[in-house]
Amino acid sequence: MRIGYGWDSHEFKPGIPLRIGGVELPHDQGLAGHSDGDVLLHALTDALLGAVAAGDIGAFFPPSDPRWKGANSVIFIEEAMRHVERAGYAVTNADTTLILAAPKIGPHAARIQQRLAELLKVDCNCVGVKAKTPEGLGIDNTAIAHAVVLLEKRNDGGLDQMEAVETLPQEVVDELVEEVLESAGPATPKRIKSYRD
Ligand code: MG
Repeated sequence: MRIGYGWDSHEFKPGIPLRIGGVELPHDQGLAGHSDGDVLLHALTDALLGAVAAGDIGAFFPPSDPRWKGANSVIFIEEAMRHVERAGYAVTNADTTLILAAPKIGPHAARIQQRLAELLKVDCNCVGVKAKTPEGLGIDNTAIAHAVVLLEKRNDGGLDQMEAVETLPQEVVDELVEEVLESAGPATPKRIKSYRD
């Protein structure tokens, strides 16, 4: 099991589209940034990369690289998910908090939740999307996002268990086999017959 955490902030800028969580929201300002400024996807990307100790978003997509100018941040999440999957993990759940003065996130939260669930390959009820206003912080021109993710080994990680058994000393394997046989109950003639058949 692994946990990952990420956060990000972007400044509002008039006249550009506002994208949060892979969804375009109606607003008169968007988030400035080298990419599309999707603060929530950036925080989640860092959480995913952090959970498998794969570095951070800046290492993979440096702002100095012109390829990422105006880029759709969905590609950042997709790359982070590839790292998660390559490490043998899958997302169990994610929780996020947005901090911004406007627009209100409530009316769009379900849409954002659905999009994040698609990107993280989990059910909607495994993704938390919460929003707060920055009371007393004096940052009304800024959007902040925090994200945590929990990962679990994928089912096909069973190979690891096979390898673990293969490296056990024979006497330990014998003991384990005996325990399993004992817990299965006495070997009655009827059971022996059914095994033979
Ligand atoms: Mg960012």
